[in-house]
Amino acid sequence: MNLKSMTLPEMGQLLGSLGQPAFRAKQVYTWLHKGARSYDEMTNLPKSLRDTLARDYPIQAPKVVRRQESGKDGTIKYLWELSDGNCVETVLMRYHYGNTVCISTEVGCRMGCAFCASTLGGLVRRLEPYEMLDQVLFTQVDSGQKISHIVLMGIGEPLDNFDNVMRFLELVNSPEGMNISMRHISLSTCGLVPKIDELAKRKLQLTLSVSLHAPNDRTRDQIMPVNKAYPTEELLAACRRYYQATNRRISFEYAMIQGVNDSREDALELLRRLKGLPAHFNLIPLNHVEESPLKPSTRAAVAAFQKTLEDGGVTATVRRTLGGDIDASCGQLRRKYHKEST
Ligand code: SAH
Repeated sequence: MNLKSMTLPEMGQLLGSLGQPAFRAKQVYTWLHKGARSYDEMTNLPKSLRDTLARDYPIQAPKVVRRQESGKDGTIKYLWELSDGNCVETVLMRYHYGNTVCISTEVGCRMGCAFCASTLGGLVRRLEPYEMLDQVLFTQVDSGQKISHIVLMGIGEPLDNFDNVMRFLELVNSPEGMNISMRHISLSTCGLVPKIDELAKRKLQLTLSVSLHAPNDRTRDQIMPVNKAYPTEELLAACRRYYQATNRRISFEYAMIQGVNDSREDALELLRRLKGLPAHFNLIPLNHVEESPLKPSTRAAVAAFQKTLEDGGVTATVRRTLGGDIDASCGQLRRKYHKEST
């Protein structure tokens, strides 16, 4: 396993087996979680240990291949090259409550949502825990901005990379590492029901975001193939179980697509089906993807939809679209880069 994917106790065991005293693990762990790119930076370690680690556990760090900064709102989008040459995206967004990074969890995605650019080339591979950590770490190092919030909403389906994502959360949450509170982390899923149940068992304080995008199977089947495996009834039942287990309100993502899911009837059906479940809606006007015929709803349709939900007692916010001038949504930059380089 990559050293940066190890928890502090695991690193302690490893260094113990190399005959090192207990405090060494904490030193190495702290350096790695500050973004050290070489063992030579770790000046408080003996030279012999640095040499051994450099030989057996070379430090991996992603390279910035593209960096686009929005002139409008300060959003920065990074395209990183990983050690095997694959690329993933990370977006840094400035919100009033703190700097938020949106990280990728996989290279590509196999979920096949009709409106999403990340899935067009399928799944290439899953990210290792340290590769998710590196996105947070090196965004902080490169931008000089302290990161306080994380959303797992970039390329990939986090619950399709369950174990690695759980380990990443443990790393990024650790007091000796970046120490980011679980309450400042949101995990977004297209709705893998058994994995939602598995997540519920962990009783983490993070926010679960569910990409619902439709009030019923008729519409959801058309835009999200995952709905064939886990239809809306099962998904909403899993959300109720999740709420019961964690007492955490579910956040629903809802990309508004003209003429597909944005009618008053759709909003009313959502209200009926979500009755009694504490929920919050994030309404996102669809980001147009070149390869797709789907179009965003009009502003008026989004506002009307929001009002219908709120009148029915469900809070709904319209997501501010940040970084619209820099391809800052869901796999668009990686896709563009691939096209240019082939
Ligand atoms: N796989 C996870 C997380 C990654 S996608 C999931 O499905 O939730 C993050 C969010 O962006 C999801 O809600 C996804 O449905 C949404 N999304 C993808 N493409 C979009 C687009 N073109 N416009 C608006 N939202 C989009």
